[in-house]
Amino acid sequence: MKLKFIGATETVTGSMHLIETENNFSILLDCGLYQGLGQETDILNRHLNVNPSAINVVLLSHAHIDHSGNLPLLVKQGFLGFIYCTPPTRKVVELLLFDSANIHEFDIEYINKERELLNQKPLEPLYTYHDVERCLKHLKTIPYNQEFQLNDQVSFTFTDVGHILGSAAVNLKFNNGTGKLTRLTYTGDIGKYNDIILKNPQPFPQADYIICESTYGDRLHNNSPDSDLQLLNIIRKTCIEKKGKLIIPAFSLGRTQELVFILNKLKNKNMLPNINIYVDSPLSAGITNIMREHINCFNESFNQYLSKDADPFGFENLKYIIDKEDSKALNNQKEPCIIIAASGMMDGGRIKHHLIHYISDSKHTILIVGYCTTNSLGGQIKNGKKNVKILDEFYDVKAEIATIDSYSAHADYSEIIHFLSCQNKKKVKTIFLVHGDTNAKIIFKEKLIKEGFLDIVIPHKNKLIHLS
Ligand SMILES: [Zn+2]
Repeated sequence: MKLKFIGATETVTGSMHLIETENNFSILLDCGLYQGLGQETDILNRHLNVNPSAINVVLLSHAHIDHSGNLPLLVKQGFLGFIYCTPPTRKVVELLLFDSANIHEFDIEYINKERELLNQKPLEPLYTYHDVERCLKHLKTIPYNQEFQLNDQVSFTFTDVGHILGSAAVNLKFNNGTGKLTRLTYTGDIGKYNDIILKNPQPFPQADYIICESTYGDRLHNNSPDSDLQLLNIIRKTCIEKKGKLIIPAFSLGRTQELVFILNKLKNKNMLPNINIYVDSPLSAGITNIMREHINCFNESFNQYLSKDADPFGFENLKYIIDKEDSKALNNQKEPCIIIAASGMMDGGRIKHHLIHYISDSKHTILIVGYCTTNSLGGQIKNGKKNVKILDEFYDVKAEIATIDSYSAHADYSEIIHFLSCQNKKKVKTIFLVHGDTNAKIIFKEKLIKEGFLDIVIPHKNKLIHLS
């Protein structure tokens, strides 16, 4: 059996790994987009580095676009098989892929105007709305903890990893026909323990090989029980003392609902100032509705909360903004307010328009609550850059920049080690570290060796590895 790491090797985006069995059955684990790598991003995304028609199935760990976002291109370029995912992932990925197609179709118009000035040929969008429609026909859902036989020799089971709604580890079983069984688990992205909404990551079956994410392989989260109060203090300082606006860039999936739930709890405790809160994202509104339909997927304490408040994602003063004109109208409003908008890394979406209005005025605050790659606009702002390019223009960063780290959807290194503790370390032949910056992986490798795991490999891009 061969394993090839195609994406998310030197980065945390572009997840894609290929398994080829001895009988030439090809399985692609995820097919994600690269994000936040500047000009290189588009080039990387246009070259899949696999032969789509030679792949038999795709197993999708979760809906995040850096894991699912290049599936339409895979289908467009000749993939004919099924894409398996959990039922909630199916619903979420549909929204995210249509949104992604819109972004690509919009961006290409802008890129082509620039290319025309340089006498360069126009580019096609990476994929279109129609390509997404075709791609969605390939999706098949398999519930958590139900073993599914792909053929006589290969089966898989999804187990919950508590990262986002529908997220799963993929646990594969290979039988080579002579009674020899090989098990491989791909963790996808691992969530944290004791999340306010999601269930804890679930233990998974003993594996011979593990492809493990390592986004926070070098970090511990500041799991301060006071993070809600920290948020409240930032709201009070910005909106009450300075009479400014609090701008929160947030991923539409997960982080936005988490923030809304925290604000809802503060509201129910009469702690929230009487200001308007806007979730300015049609995508967030759609995903919030899907979350409302999947309440059974959430943890015990969240379910208990529901008995007191039937809608944890809605309350007085909170408005979801769908229409583009309503979004623009927010910037004419003089009163203090909170605006939550995508994207979390600030590289796309409506957040850019809000940043243009507020980033150069010290009265306002930009609150960063999620992971940002170093080169992304969010990464630059987070790292203290004083002048940044947004759309076509440069802006001085004078707004207050605040960060709350404890809202991560990823496990930190102690939580990943806890997640792996269900394994007999001596039986795990190799752990491959993916989805992390190089430094995070090197540090995490040392930690895993100290824990007693035998062999930790940091694979290079496109490296082919033979598994025994
Ligand atoms: Zn993810």
